[in-house]
Amino acid sequence: MTTPEDLYATIDRLVEQHAPALIALRRRVHEHPELSGREVRTAQVVADQLRAIGFDEVRIGVGGHGVVGVLRGGRPGDRVIALRADMDGLPVREASGEAFASQVVDAEYPGGPFPVAHACGHDCHVAAVLTTASVLGAMRADLPGTVVCIFQSAEEGPPIGETDGARAMLDSGALDDPRPTMAFGLHVGPFPTGTVAYHVGEAYAGSALVRIRVEGVQTHGSTPWLGADPMPAVGQIISGVGQLYRQVPADHRVSATIGHIEDVGRFNIIPGHVTLYGTLRAATDADMDDLQAGFRRLAEGSAEAFGCRATVDFLQRVPPVRNTQAWMDAAMPTLQRVVGARHVVEAPPLMGYDDVSLFVEAFGGLYLNLGVQDTRLDPVRVLAPIEGGRGLVQNHHPGFYANEAALPVSVRIHANIAVDHLLGLIEVSPPAG
Ligand SMILES: [Zn+2]
Ligand SMILES: [Zn+2]
Repeated sequence: MTTPEDLYATIDRLVEQHAPALIALRRRVHEHPELSGREVRTAQVVADQLRAIGFDEVRIGVGGHGVVGVLRGGRPGDRVIALRADMDGLPVREASGEAFASQVVDAEYPGGPFPVAHACGHDCHVAAVLTTASVLGAMRADLPGTVVCIFQSAEEGPPIGETDGARAMLDSGALDDPRPTMAFGLHVGPFPTGTVAYHVGEAYAGSALVRIRVEGVQTHGSTPWLGADPMPAVGQIISGVGQLYRQVPADHRVSATIGHIEDVGRFNIIPGHVTLYGTLRAATDADMDDLQAGFRRLAEGSAEAFGCRATVDFLQRVPPVRNTQAWMDAAMPTLQRVVGARHVVEAPPLMGYDDVSLFVEAFGGLYLNLGVQDTRLDPVRVLAPIEGGRGLVQNHHPGFYANEAALPVSVRIHANIAVDHLLGLIEVSPPAG
């Protein structure tokens, strides 16, 4: 009779065995990052390895370049654990100083060419979940249930007009059978290496991409009275964004940024139209609705004031990641057993978003952070760099780095969470509704 303790010991032994391949895999993925919705090569690496491990099903092209692998355990069990990794890189010129830093440039991407880097650490996610697949694959005879590995396309948002990502994966039906009974994932970030950071409630904010097109009347730069200049409206919209916060109670978490402006003009031409792109974040759906309504009023009103017209679109809306107290309580013993109680810490919520929220919402589960940097948490839980280390470098920064010592920890966490869920030691139920 195999006891849970036997399974945990097997995981540790297998993780140790797979550690060199895990690091090599991470570096290989890191060297060849691909932008959101273009993860062709990464998906191929993933699918090939899942087949080599002996997964019963490997579904490719799911919601873009997503891959879903299904591994049926050798013992009876109704539970289905879903482990999720995202695969995309970012349009960032890497400055991590790693020997395996990316040199990739994507010349074809809309709006590009862009240098590409794994500046959000999704290379670590791919390597960890794929290695977890190897570990659980080697233990399959003893697994009482099913493992589903989800490798997702376009977490950072596909080009406008494309639909890849978590929602497209769910809509495709590829996760209907077997339907996960728990979704789990870990995002790497600037917490101390090996630390699991969690937040109950809205751990990640909800998000929406906003696009505002301000339509004027084009004319010569020296004769503004003969046209309608969209620029003053654009200026008003941008400075008005800060005022929108004042419509939301001060203790609510919202954020709004215009990150990109596109015009079609020239220094001596008043353009016919200007398009603004930005991102809205809010911890609750109600605040997101209010923020969107405020944005629409601001854009339409500002345009009208200068004789222009604004069209406002909210795209790629993603709900917040909501970890419930019950789910966190259910997983806490496993997390504490795997990394030690003092390495499981409560952290403030993030204003970043992650469309893993759709999986967590659909199946119940948890999305947590795993520290990969030379930092420490002071007694009030503020992050600070440690002496002599590589510093604190946020995700999406060109210098973002990850200590590879955290990767085997990530695999141990994924594998132990999976086993404990299949054993019925971690139960989650999807949110009502
Ligand atoms: Zn990111
Ligand atoms: Zn990310």
